[in-house]
Amino acid sequence: MNVESQESWTGLLPTLCPETQPFWDACNQNKFIVQKCQACGNPQYHYRAFCCHCWSEAVEDRAIEGTGTVWTFSVVNRNLTPAFASWGRYVVGVVEVPEGVKIVTKIETPDPDSVRIGTPVRLAFARAENGQNIPFFRTVS
Ligand SMILES: [Zn+2]
Repeated sequence: MNVESQESWTGLLPTLCPETQPFWDACNQNKFIVQKCQACGNPQYHYRAFCCHCWSEAVEDRAIEGTGTVWTFSVVNRNLTPAFASWGRYVVGVVEVPEGVKIVTKIETPDPDSVRIGTPVRLAFARAENGQNIPFFRTVS
């Protein structure tokens, strides 16, 4: 996977727990993990200890390639929540990836008004002050 250079994360941080720790550990290696169930074959995200389709615990971790397209989105003009107040205008959305799942994410772009359903995006990571990598997607120009 070709991940773009590291930048700093200034938003809220995830609450880590034993069930999702492998996902966040993989993020620190610039890998975004989705899972595929070995019992029913369905992919899933977000990260869980069992399959959300059939409840099997035989779920396999797979790093996505990092490509995707915008499935839906919203432009946030102003967020007064302290953790996001410095972001200015930004885009949040749902990205569909070829691995068969949709991911709620920040979509970084130089022009929020240019984002459309179907806009191609690419996975990137930003590093928080505590050293945790946070995944997001960035529009492809
Ligand atoms: Zn399953």
